[in-house]
Amino acid sequence: MSLKYIDEYRDPDLARSLVKKIQAISHKKLRFMEVCGTHTMSIFKNGIRSVLPDHITLLSGPGCPVCVTAQRDIDAFVEFSRKENMIVTTFGDLMKVPGSGSSLSKEKAEGADVRMVYSVFDAVAIAKENLDKEVVFCAVGFETTTPTIAAAILSARGEGVNNFSIYSANKLTPPALAALMETDGVKIDGFILPGHVSVITGTNAYRETFERYNIPSVITGFEPLDILNSVLLLIEQNETGVKALVNGYTRAVSDDGNLKAKAILNQVFELCDATWRGIGEIPSSGMSLKEEFKAFDAAKKFNMDMPDVPEPPGCACGQILMGLKTPEECKLYKKQCTPMTPVGPCMVSSEGSCAAFYRYS
Ligand code: SF4
Repeated sequence: MSLKYIDEYRDPDLARSLVKKIQAISHKKLRFMEVCGTHTMSIFKNGIRSVLPDHITLLSGPGCPVCVTAQRDIDAFVEFSRKENMIVTTFGDLMKVPGSGSSLSKEKAEGADVRMVYSVFDAVAIAKENLDKEVVFCAVGFETTTPTIAAAILSARGEGVNNFSIYSANKLTPPALAALMETDGVKIDGFILPGHVSVITGTNAYRETFERYNIPSVITGFEPLDILNSVLLLIEQNETGVKALVNGYTRAVSDDGNLKAKAILNQVFELCDATWRGIGEIPSSGMSLKEEFKAFDAAKKFNMDMPDVPEPPGCACGQILMGLKTPEECKLYKKQCTPMTPVGPCMVSSEGSCAAFYRYS
């Protein structure tokens, strides 16, 4: 779908006509997964679930960076905040995520120096202003955020900012798709692939997963028509049996992605195994700093190696991220767990599926 102006991607008449097409061709019971927190929010905000046939289910997958961060990494962030002469810097969503015994916001309330930043470069600036302290940045996010973190590390190294380091819980999207396809009980008939991530990775990043599993996959923008059009394409592929990897977001995504961003990323980071909440360890799905940049690796600098810990009792975030449960199937949903009293990250993050269900359903 290619329109000229962004407003056209929100046009109610065009949306109605796409819904009609969906209703006309859709016969099979199908489950599609969006793998991007921004898609989750857009789907709820625009009421897209409510206009689809009942036999089409949209699932929120492991696309919210805070939600997929393992409990041991949250514990590590809390542990950093308890150290003397330490400033912990983080994006806002991480503040309230409960670790095993505390959260960054609780530690802050008890006097720890935890600061919310909007960019990793803010953390570098804080380090420059506080040379007598160590500044750790809690790095979470996918291919979209990691190149900026790499650029910040290059900048810190260039300026000799030696009191700045990051704890990397950064992850890659394609290995998670493959891990989902390999998991018993997971049933997905198509992926609504992330828009922002794909701007960096390009369409080709998903080719191996598509070819191995022959699963309908559409890279998707964030406007209502983008999403409806993707759902239509996924239904078409399932109904006709002609499967394809489609770039439905050509106004932003190319085959090879952003080569400059990928070059910076690969200069600073290398692949490592990573633990994902709910899914467990996925080989080569994380990004760690190369040996050359180990002075900026907070885990190495401060010898931080937290043990694996289970999710909070009763929290079904892990199963929700794999499409095995919906938030409403969690026993704690809207009871012990609300946005004011979150038990798991899916209720904390603005992109989490529990928070989206709570707000919009
Ligand atoms: Fe976890 Fe709360 Fe979501 Fe249940 S409702 S899965 S406890 S975040």
